Amino acid sequence: MRIAEVLKLAQRLEDVSDSPRLDTELFLCHVLEKPSSYLMTWPEKELTEAKVQRFYQCLERRQRGEPVAYILGMQAFWTLDLEVSADTLIPRADTEVLVETALNLLPNIPLRVADLGTGTGAIALALASERSAWDVWGCDRIIGAVELAKRNQTRLGLAHVTFVQGSWLEPLEGRFDMIVSNPPYIDQADEHLQQGDVRFEPLSALVAGEDGLSDIRHIITASCQYLAEGGWLLFEHGYQQATAVRSLFSEEGYSDVVTYQDYAGNDRVTLGCWRNS
Ligand code: GLN
Repeated sequence: MRIAEVLKLAQRLEDVSDSPRLDTELFLCHVLEKPSSYLMTWPEKELTEAKVQRFYQCLERRQRGEPVAYILGMQAFWTLDLEVSADTLIPRADTEVLVETALNLLPNIPLRVADLGTGTGAIALALASERSAWDVWGCDRIIGAVELAKRNQTRLGLAHVTFVQGSWLEPLEGRFDMIVSNPPYIDQADEHLQQGDVRFEPLSALVAGEDGLSDIRHIITASCQYLAEGGWLLFEHGYQQATAVRSLFSEEGYSDVVTYQDYAGNDRVTLGCWRNS
């Protein structure tokens, strides 16, 4: 089979994917270990039988609805290529707003920063890639996620990150200048959980109680014991949760509570500042 013929198989993904052509190109690049420009330059190139078989395996997994990132085992986030696995949420572009907000709050001087529920390590590693002076910690309750985050760290060569296993703040010691998290925030009855790629992701990374706020509520309360004077706490949350999250911050005594929007204009990140006095 030639490259041009393989690309036509994109039509088989029309029912399951919003981007059949792109998915097909990604699978083909993955199998050939070539950049996408190669596909356009060499449409007449014949694939070996082994490569055709590997391509079909990718295509069939996608036809069953599996997310492209799990099939490739990789996902781009910020400026980084991250390994992903079924133990973790697939990093999303929305979460880059959390990274950007965190970077805008504090400069590149020696500071302690923690990422709770780090998963692939996406947020911790993106922050570390931009702030060489920070001492960044990433925690996750799932050992498979901690191991994955460490593999991503090693591949990216970001030595100033420490990944530890434990629930939310529990494995941490001392005080932090900033705590960030993209915790689960979907309520368990949300029908969004039954549709598309999200069906393949771990529920434990998505669902937080009946109102989707149970983990955010816990972290806001528990972080008071872990934030330095003037330290920041930032969350990603659902687009309809900003008012509730701001109230939780204010009730706990945080100040300077502000919400930021994602690239689609939806409320997505809320932060608060912890002052003892
Ligand atoms: N934004 C994700 C979604 O809607 C959920 C991410 C999360 O729960 N932290 O699929």
